Amino acid sequence: MSKSVKNRYGSAMRLIELERKSRVLTKAQFGCLRDAYTVNVTRGCEFMCVYCYARGYPEAPGPDEVQLYFSLPERLAAELDSPRRRSVIDWIVFNTASDSFQTHPDILETTYRAMRVLLEREIGFSFLTKGWIPNRFIELFSDHPDLVISRIGLVSMSDRYRDLFEPQAATVIERLQNIERLKAAGIGVEVRIDPIIPFWTDDEASIKELYGALAARGVSMVSLSYLHLRPAILGQLQKELPPKEYKVILSCFQSQPWTVIGTSARSKLIPLPLREKGYERFLNLSEGFGIKPLICSCKNPDLHAHWCSVGMRTETTRKPLGKKERQLTLFPC
Ligand code: SF4
Repeated sequence: MSKSVKNRYGSAMRLIELERKSRVLTKAQFGCLRDAYTVNVTRGCEFMCVYCYARGYPEAPGPDEVQLYFSLPERLAAELDSPRRRSVIDWIVFNTASDSFQTHPDILETTYRAMRVLLEREIGFSFLTKGWIPNRFIELFSDHPDLVISRIGLVSMSDRYRDLFEPQAATVIERLQNIERLKAAGIGVEVRIDPIIPFWTDDEASIKELYGALAARGVSMVSLSYLHLRPAILGQLQKELPPKEYKVILSCFQSQPWTVIGTSARSKLIPLPLREKGYERFLNLSEGFGIKPLICSCKNPDLHAHWCSVGMRTETTRKPLGKKERQLTLFPC
């Protein structure tokens, strides 16, 4: 079924309901998420971030179209409860190629039911979002605070940055309010500062403003990663950014070769000296705010970086750990 609607921010989008043929629970093959079970509620994402690598996948829907796996909750329950399942899954990662908190009510309803399926079975999960989290989710999570880790994507306090780079995602204020409401409900909150845009979001004043807002809301840990390029991302930046901003970003990558990074056969990193200086600024400034930054190893293979998902449990042949023994995910990227 196909429905044309406007999203929360007034942009037109077409939602198509899709019956997923393949298994719902799949293992990631890359980086810090290797071997973790991952779930995506949709294919495509209404937030349309200009740097989104998932928009470049061959199977990605066209612009302004999102495909919803409407039967995900039932399929998830069937796979988890199957008598043929020999292993135990006790942790799942949402949103490796989409966002569960897109604004369309049908997407939110499917997300809510899928998350409830997990919590009813004492299965924990983490999610990364740039969307607004409705209150009913916070209420659901508050009944199971040890089973949920929320990760809020926030790179800059600048509304202009959000308008240019993440045009349909939640506003800065809304994301800060997510942090406040999640914290008040006792839910673990981490912030992902990714992608850092050179000369846009990595100067001292911008970092201090962001750290200040996060520290004021009790955030004590962030993960960091600079923008990386793939051919499709380059095309999106060229098409969707103003020429001046595009040229500045392009100039940072011009001397860099296309190379293999993770599962991508053609990627470019910001030159190492530029990244090192930038990360150093983030690290030095963090001390004054009581924030611990982790540099993600997935997109920094040439740096001494962190394995962001330390301690994440994915699948075992043993019984699930009790609550006290459960090791929680740190920054699955
Ligand atoms: S929120 Fe995530 S999945 Fe959605 S467009 Fe932005 S980067 Fe892509």
